[in-house]
Amino acid sequence: MQDLILELTKEPKIAYFSMEIGVHNDIPTYSGGLGVLAGDTIRSGADLKLPMVAVTLMCRKGYFVQELDSSGKQSEHPVIWDPADYMKLLPYRVMVQIEGRDVQVQAWLYTVKSLTGGSIPVLFLDTDLAANAPEHREITASLYGGDKTYRLKQEIVLGIGGVRMLHELEFEIKKYHMNEGHASFLLLELLNRFKKPIEDVWDEKLVWDKSSVKNLCVFTTHTPVEAGHDKFPYDLVMKTMGEIVPLSLLQELAGRDGLNMTLLALNLSRYINGVAKKHGEVSKSMFPGYEIYAITNGVHSFTWTCDSFKKIYDKYLPGWANEPELFVRIGRIPDEEIWNAHAEAKQGLMSYVLEKTGVELSADVLTFGFARRATAYKRADLIFRDLQRLEQIGSGRIQIIYAGKAHPRDIPGKQLIENIFAYKEKLKDRLKIVYLQNYNMEIALKIISGVDVWLNTPLRPLEASGTSGMKATHNGVMNFSVLDGWWIEGHIEDFTGWSIGAAPQELTPGADADDRDAEDLYHKLEHTILPLYYGDRHMWVRMMQNAIGKNAYYFNSHRMMRRYVTDAYIR
Ligand SMILES: *Cc1c(COP(=O)(O)O)cnc(C)c1O
Repeated sequence: MQDLILELTKEPKIAYFSMEIGVHNDIPTYSGGLGVLAGDTIRSGADLKLPMVAVTLMCRKGYFVQELDSSGKQSEHPVIWDPADYMKLLPYRVMVQIEGRDVQVQAWLYTVKSLTGGSIPVLFLDTDLAANAPEHREITASLYGGDKTYRLKQEIVLGIGGVRMLHELEFEIKKYHMNEGHASFLLLELLNRFKKPIEDVWDEKLVWDKSSVKNLCVFTTHTPVEAGHDKFPYDLVMKTMGEIVPLSLLQELAGRDGLNMTLLALNLSRYINGVAKKHGEVSKSMFPGYEIYAITNGVHSFTWTCDSFKKIYDKYLPGWANEPELFVRIGRIPDEEIWNAHAEAKQGLMSYVLEKTGVELSADVLTFGFARRATAYKRADLIFRDLQRLEQIGSGRIQIIYAGKAHPRDIPGKQLIENIFAYKEKLKDRLKIVYLQNYNMEIALKIISGVDVWLNTPLRPLEASGTSGMKATHNGVMNFSVLDGWWIEGHIEDFTGWSIGAAPQELTPGADADDRDAEDLYHKLEHTILPLYYGDRHMWVRMMQNAIGKNAYYFNSHRMMRRYVTDAYIR
């Protein structure tokens, strides 16, 4: 074990902190886009042999297993899994103080290994030890579970416990990268490391060297709405974590009227970025006075390409997985091989759907996919806004595959799933719809590669980036999406895919956004997409090639990580 730690810590590293990380489908410590992005970040980092270490929370009960009854009512069950099946428990412990008591934190080591020989250690922090009080053992049990106090305790373990654990293991850290504001407490721990007494004064006085902390820190924000940022009242903070730095200093850094985790990170990070160009701008207007850059997200090409496409890429674009720029040569792959690779993925998805739901979909019918967190702004039911119209256009000619979990406390999100079940029932003889349960990374790969068109209808400007559409493009699946997040950068009409609704420069749409977007959706479906799919195979395959050659070429996490290195890590 000692040798292992020595090996891990032999060179200085970038420490990547994220509340959730999807390192593996069966390690249920992720809930959606943020965690999967963190996993892709680490996978690309390992491929590129970047010196990184990642820190996250254990979440023994995972996010949850989703079960849907026949009307779409969601119930949640804890995930049964054993960390010891995947990770090694490290023989080290650190302490954090919560509600005036010591809480011990241990860490499990998971290693993300690349075929290139690179590897990145991921530390899963865990408070479930016999030495802790029962309530403290629960702190790392559920991802995004519990109330504000519970969340605060988790963030203390992640930020403060995380820095202490890295220190205990003797990691030398060159930069701390906070993936979203959940990890901002690491800054307070660092501030205390850079605390110096001022000499030459009568009183014993301390200064906190903010600029040294700042030089070490990188912050990526993911939230384009004010309400999405974690905020804690100061009385709760004081009661839970004590005065870890003086309250006046904390208020100066994190806001007067409550501790805003995003503000704290903004004030103590040398490099700050949003996750798409538009999101960078939205963040700038939300937090005037801060220099906020943009590094557009990407997905891990090898992870998000299905087997049949891997085969043709290996044949025509050898080396593509570690050099996705080779997608620029997509024109080398003959049309029929692209079509056949897609047909194989589609057939695989249809068989999976049959096995899981008993519904027999047809591989000859234009198939839409919509899978992501079920939450109101994503508007999973926008396509049903005018049922008569949808039937008129699509009866027998389209089918839709859905998946997605609603957060256990997201009542409108849960309602959305039930609504889709109701539409499914209503339309069942004319337009087939299926909803796959328990969306996770494995199901995601099946859907994003097996459908013909990837549908995304978020309410602008609420989609910071979105990544599932990027995954689709790696499998020659075109996007049909609202112009928000990454799609503003990836979209070329009738070339890489199609837009829905207003152009991005138009102001945030008003109350009629749903009507306008739905109108555009129906119009393009009827007049552009259906005629092309059923009438012009050649042109359709050309667009599949464009999706790969223009979108997958750019929206991959190798490009993203190279940007983080040049723009953020080595500055
Ligand atoms: C990629 C992915 C997401 C993110 O989907 P968006 O459409 O970008 O929100 C969510 N959940 C899982 C399991 C994923 O693989």
